[in-house]
Amino acid sequence: MTAERSGAPGTLTVVATPIGNLGDLSARARAVLASGDVLACEDTRRTGRLLALAGIAPPKLVSLHAHNEHERTAALVDDLLAGADVALVSDAGTPLVSDPGERLVSAAASAGVEVVAVPGPSALLAALVVSGMATARWRFEGFLPRKGPERRSRIAEIAAAPHPSVVYESPVRLGATLAELAAACGDERRVVVARELTKLHEQTWRGTLAGSVAHVRGSAPRGEHVVVVDAAPPGRAAEQDAVASAVADLVAAGLARRDAVTAAVVLLGASRRDAYAAAVELPRS
Ligand code: SAM
Repeated sequence: MTAERSGAPGTLTVVATPIGNLGDLSARARAVLASGDVLACEDTRRTGRLLALAGIAPPKLVSLHAHNEHERTAALVDDLLAGADVALVSDAGTPLVSDPGERLVSAAASAGVEVVAVPGPSALLAALVVSGMATARWRFEGFLPRKGPERRSRIAEIAAAPHPSVVYESPVRLGATLAELAAACGDERRVVVARELTKLHEQTWRGTLAGSVAHVRGSAPRGEHVVVVDAAPPGRAAEQDAVASAVADLVAAGLARRDAVTAAVVLLGASRRDAYAAAVELPRS
């Protein structure tokens, strides 16, 4: 801690920083970053560069990332309780949105420390609002698990969701993820792939999932991407619910999952994709 004060605890301020365009650093963010006692940041060098570009003299920088949040949190809460004002930033965008900080915010709030936000850039909202999809209700998936049943189950949820889903993805996995989404949601489901938002080479690609697979295959994607998958068509959720309950009944009646999928396809005319997705969702006995 750099400032010892007796009496009231300091404030923890969660500060959003640009996702690629320095012009998006708000006046209030600048003021908080310049005036705090301690600045907790994911990567001190990266935040140091941001402060230098913004002409802000760095306060005490403390690293807080996925691998040290556990041990750093207690010390930062002690600083706050001793009266220091702490600001929290991540490498880009809004902390806690697929970024560290959850543990610190939770611990500070539990300790009675005031926690406030300086809202600002986030790739999630930037992609959603340019998507052209319904924005009244939507879902944020963050990064999907890389493999295994949890990934399949999250993709099945996106396929069935009655609202658009926003997914963060790295360029390396983008093609595979779009292909899996196309397999689960159907080739014709609408999708938006937003790339390098707020940056010089910003692009927003709109089309179908099948089209996106072809688009990405031809272009070796680079940079940062957000995928917005449209909601399941109306009536589709009810159709999937009916298949899910039939598959669950067949398994409860003693059929192996694979046989329940085949029975639902052959006897009930369910799509194999829906029946399979329903079987994957069933709890393991
Ligand atoms: N906290 C950040 C936010 O508020 O958006 C997100 C951090 S998460 C570790 C990084 C991911 O966000 C990237 O892999 C990408 O999916 C997305 N992202 C961040 N900046 C982006 C940009 N300028 N354009 C498109 N996607 C971006």
